[in-house]
Amino acid sequence: MKTVTLPGGETVPAFGLGTWNIGDHAATRADELAALRAGLDAGATLIDTAEMYGSGRSEQLVGEAIAGRRDQVFLVTKVLPDNAGRRAAVAACERSLRRLKTDRIDLYLLHWRGGVPFAETLDAFAELKAAGKIRHYGVSNLDLADMHEWWSRAGGAATACNQLLYNLTRRGIEFDLLPWLRERRVPVMAYSPLEQARLLAHAGLRRFCARYQMTPAQAALAWLLAQEQVIVIPKSASVARVQENLSAAEIRLDAGQRAELDALFPPPTRARPLEML
Ligand code: NDP
Repeated sequence: MKTVTLPGGETVPAFGLGTWNIGDHAATRADELAALRAGLDAGATLIDTAEMYGSGRSEQLVGEAIAGRRDQVFLVTKVLPDNAGRRAAVAACERSLRRLKTDRIDLYLLHWRGGVPFAETLDAFAELKAAGKIRHYGVSNLDLADMHEWWSRAGGAATACNQLLYNLTRRGIEFDLLPWLRERRVPVMAYSPLEQARLLAHAGLRRFCARYQMTPAQAALAWLLAQEQVIVIPKSASVARVQENLSAAEIRLDAGQRAELDALFPPPTRARPLEML
């Protein structure tokens, strides 16, 4: 499994498992658990969740999926902006820990920017880290201006990741934010790497895949995995699709194939507002 190095030197798998819309329905719970466990078995030992997902139901399901194998997993969850205040973030983290049935979160992210001053959130993250409740912290959906501000606050430069919308159809961050993060060795965690499955119907991508004997999901993920310091976190509630997605880690796109994808999905030529879902 390809790995990505966090700023402090720890390595994590470049392939993780997303969990948005997982854990919401009793009827699909067994399949979702099986899909998460299949991913873990195959080495995708990074799991991304959030207190927001299903109002905590996703975290509960993740807690079940990692039972008995907590030490093999790099667990990522997120605090809602409304809960990101000094005391509120500490309380939110403790609720997440209970739902996840663990004593620590490996990476705790601010889900997106809200009204709470960054300094307060960073104070809470520092307190949680000192108490051993989180091992690393980071952000999500912060654009370049937000990153400048976050970075200038005490503790901001210890940020371990920015989780961002990034896939073949959403390349805006390549213009400025991605290079800025790379210079500081902060990995990008690419969310909705399949554009929530919409990308898979793209006619040009399908033609490309037919020529190279890969599926659209594999091509989309292999393209992201070809980049330095990018972690992908596709979500699937199906064992077969998790396995299909994971096999993207075996695909090495050559320069010609990457150029074809650039022609289909052109990189940005100017700064664009950060996109989010
Ligand atoms: P994805 O781009 O991962 O797409 C998920 C969708 O694609 C699901 O409908 C899934 O269906 C389908 N799918 C997965 N694999 C395949 C395949 N091989 N063939 C066909 N369909 C497939 O979207 P997400 O929005 O879920 O993003 C991934 C994760 O990123 C989230 O789950 C969440 O953890 C995180 N995220 C973070 C955000 C943030 O603001 N920080 C925002 C959005 C997402 P099925 O399950 O039936 O396979």
